[in-house]
Amino acid sequence: MDIKRNYEYLLSELKSIKGVGLKTSNLLKRKKINSIFDLLWKLPKSYTDRSLSSKIKDLKIDEVQTITIIPQKYSFPRVRNLPNRVLCKDETGEIDCVFFNSYEGYIRKILPIGKEVTISGKIKYFRNKYQLTNPKYISEDSSIIKQKHNSYSLTEGISEKVYNKIIFQIIKNLPKIDEWHSKDILKNFGNIGWNDAIKKLHEPENIGKFKENFYQRLAFDEIFSTFLVNSEIRKKIKKIKKTKKKFDAKKQSEIVSKLDFSLTNDQTKTLNEINEDLCSDNKMFRLLQGDVGSGKTIVALLSAFNTISSDFQVAVMAPTEILARQHFLLAKKIYPKNIKIELLSGKSSYKDKKKILNKLIKKEIDIIFGTHALFQKKVEFKKLGLIIIDEQHKFGVSQRKKLSDKAGKDCDVLLMTATPIPRTLTMTIYGDMDLSIIREKPSNRKPVKTYSKIESKIEDVIKFIKKEIRLGNQIFWVCPLIEESKKIDHSSAVKKSEYLKKIFPNEVFLLHGKTTIEEKDKILNKFLRNEFKILVSTTIIEVGIDFPNANVIIIENANKFGLSQLHQLRGRVGRGNKESSCVLMFKSNLSENAKKRINILKDSNDGFKISEEDMKLRGFGDILGFKQSGIKNFKLADPIHNHNLFILAEKEIKRIENEKEDIGRFKPLIKLYDRADIINDIA
Ligand code: ADP
Ligand code: MG
Repeated sequence: MDIKRNYEYLLSELKSIKGVGLKTSNLLKRKKINSIFDLLWKLPKSYTDRSLSSKIKDLKIDEVQTITIIPQKYSFPRVRNLPNRVLCKDETGEIDCVFFNSYEGYIRKILPIGKEVTISGKIKYFRNKYQLTNPKYISEDSSIIKQKHNSYSLTEGISEKVYNKIIFQIIKNLPKIDEWHSKDILKNFGNIGWNDAIKKLHEPENIGKFKENFYQRLAFDEIFSTFLVNSEIRKKIKKIKKTKKKFDAKKQSEIVSKLDFSLTNDQTKTLNEINEDLCSDNKMFRLLQGDVGSGKTIVALLSAFNTISSDFQVAVMAPTEILARQHFLLAKKIYPKNIKIELLSGKSSYKDKKKILNKLIKKEIDIIFGTHALFQKKVEFKKLGLIIIDEQHKFGVSQRKKLSDKAGKDCDVLLMTATPIPRTLTMTIYGDMDLSIIREKPSNRKPVKTYSKIESKIEDVIKFIKKEIRLGNQIFWVCPLIEESKKIDHSSAVKKSEYLKKIFPNEVFLLHGKTTIEEKDKILNKFLRNEFKILVSTTIIEVGIDFPNANVIIIENANKFGLSQLHQLRGRVGRGNKESSCVLMFKSNLSENAKKRINILKDSNDGFKISEEDMKLRGFGDILGFKQSGIKNFKLADPIHNHNLFILAEKEIKRIENEKEDIGRFKPLIKLYDRADIINDIA
């Protein structure tokens, strides 16, 4: 068989391309380009036909033009009605790019200092300078196309000439691939086949044509393959047969009736979903998603209780000791006395640990709480029936898959996350799990009052805090980490705590990145016991811990955070039934855009809604925590611009699942789109 006619040709090594030797292939590998397929996404950068592109000195005023420039300097005045500006130049002159209503992070991303960028828009002339307002199309990184010679962002050591040669070769030799999509799906993209789409993608005059069929189809392929792999993982896990759990729901109601609140509808609904899974003979792999303070813990503990009633053991893993202990104490409080509860702490003595481990094997413990130490090899259970993992948003798909594989045959898995994500990302990020969502907050919850304050008025904030302390309340004071550059004027948490200590002697403690784990636990416990009033910290206050007495959070340099992050931070307060407040502090007056962001926070306490807005403002990669989570970065698809493609892919996956369609025809898709490693046994 002619290998070139087969998709596997695309997976062959770079060395099989004519003209690519060891040196070039090593250089490419360094850029994570390992196969011919990977090279397909090396696109010619911003296309600027000589006839369209101008030098700054030749710009025509009031006409839409394209220029390639190098950003030089930002100016973000953060003053009302003053726009953000970026001074840019080429070898012939200077131009100001002016942004109204654009978030700083966005501007930094699209116009990075010192990097060549191609933009276009209507040119104005203002105060002796060219000006371009809200540039329309911006390439990430580009240089000018010379006639038919494509420009690529260059990997060190590889010339444009080489790129042109090898990519031209690949496109010429594209294997014929059988269509994997159904006719109905293809109709959405003018029936364009994969090969044709790839060819079009590489034609320089098509750069930036995101709306065209070829682009949409290829973006859809990416989304769909991710969803499909996730769906296969989910199907596979659910196919695993386990011993059904059997319990008497009455016992659960007894616990519920003794709580000092009644469950919300969403808590009841999600609990029922979990219980149903426990009682089925399919293994559970479920995510409980709910905003901070939505009350996930009680749902988890009740399902754990039911598991114990079915004569199984439960392991509850929290990200930190202190959170593990908090869950442990809650369990002790609400479970009947006959249930054997333990906490495996890093601080326990060797002897005590050994005792606990011994009891676990003998099933003399029903439920154990701990950190990730619970999943060490040494920890063995006699009859583990449920693993609960709290605040797991840093786990990626493959880590989750491993976890589920590791859990025994009869062991259900429940993950919990307090990170609401935009609707379009749900299948991308959590598509491998069944999902239970708590949207509704407990009714006694008062929304956190959110204020903004310019830093120079810190006296007002101090006054406010004094009043709160007099009322017996406690305060979080958050200073962002110094991350980008020392020059950038972040507040120093150390300095701030010194300042506050002078005003509030003996009432201030500081937590920062270098505080040891033991020290941190000590301080947090003291804070929990209300032994001091103000906890100053960088952003490391643990997710999930309940500090019922803390009802004020001050966030400095609030403009450094995205909306979701601010919402998460704000969620540290307002968990009890006290009035609580959040003060966002800024260095200077707010820009219009910053005001908009604040208003979103003031108007909404709904993490899901805020996550949507956040994504629109910041783009998808940056949303809280997901950078670290290892989720796939799409090469073409974008959850904001391709919203409809995400929805279409979700629908198609559901259809395939419902009709139990054979997915054999997608094998090339899955293999090519690089997720096959997770599920190599499915296709
Ligand atoms: P999260 O979902 O962030 O983990 P928790 O489970 O820690 O939230 O719950 C936050 C607080 O809300 C806890 O103090 C808990 O006791 C309380 N809580 C939970 N459910 C309810 C409810 N239905 N009504 C009132 N308070 C509740
Ligand atoms: Mg929690």
